[in-house]
Amino acid sequence: MLRRISLVVFAGCCVALAAWASQAGGPAKGKTFLKGNLHTHSLWSDGDDFPEMIAEWYKSHGYDFLALTEHNVIASGIKWVDAANNKTREQAVEKVSKRFGPDWLEKRVEKDRPQVRLKTLEEVKAKVEEPGRFILVQGEEITHKFGKLPVHMNAINLASVIKPADCASVAETITVNVRQVNEQKAKTGREIVTFLNHPNFNWGVNADDMTQAEELRFFEVYNGHPGTNQNGDKERPGCERLWDLVISRRYKANRPAPLLGMATDDSHNYHVSSM
Ligand SMILES: [Zn+2]
Ligand SMILES: [Zn+2]
Repeated sequence: MLRRISLVVFAGCCVALAAWASQAGGPAKGKTFLKGNLHTHSLWSDGDDFPEMIAEWYKSHGYDFLALTEHNVIASGIKWVDAANNKTREQAVEKVSKRFGPDWLEKRVEKDRPQVRLKTLEEVKAKVEEPGRFILVQGEEITHKFGKLPVHMNAINLASVIKPADCASVAETITVNVRQVNEQKAKTGREIVTFLNHPNFNWGVNADDMTQAEELRFFEVYNGHPGTNQNGDKERPGCERLWDLVISRRYKANRPAPLLGMATDDSHNYHVSSM
């Protein structure tokens, strides 16, 4: 596995996690700190491994929960992927067949191309979840742009896909997505948490945008993907500095709405180590 960084969950988010955990029959009684990852990609979008293999890796490394957060999709319904379009895919198919047996994957040939069907989140849950020990949570990376500026937000424990809305600015894009999540939360009664992902990815979101989007309560102060400009550059602040700027600007504007930090893996690549 390429990169695994423990999730740090702050304040209010812990409440939501405890609620999911109790809904799913865990975690172990008396456990006050839960370890998990809330930003994970698999073959359902642009990750390069099967969700059951990823879930099992996290479970076997002491994690209590894992959210699959694919780009604008949730892992349900029928999805076929090519089984041999590159070396990495071949490797993934070989590993999952070795781990779960040669009959685990459903196979077909489509236009001369061998394909396999991806397991849905429900199928993976049935195989990997263990009450009181490990749960999987449905998520989505609501993936959008304002002009060329990426605005990505995760929604965790949602019931159905949220389609990103076209808006007039970056701040409005964030605000409208937060509202869409909160509407689903109110409608379904589920605990749903949303946060802004990797603000410095392609320099999509700056401190002013985050200050203006007052309804935003969480953002990724740390994202494990190497291409997200985590530490800023000579002209632009890193994510920790962004956090300071937003909190102080909200405070100065007499709008001291809290902004809490998350740390996630944003894992995509599971077969080649860069270490
Ligand atoms: Zn993203
Ligand atoms: Zn992502």
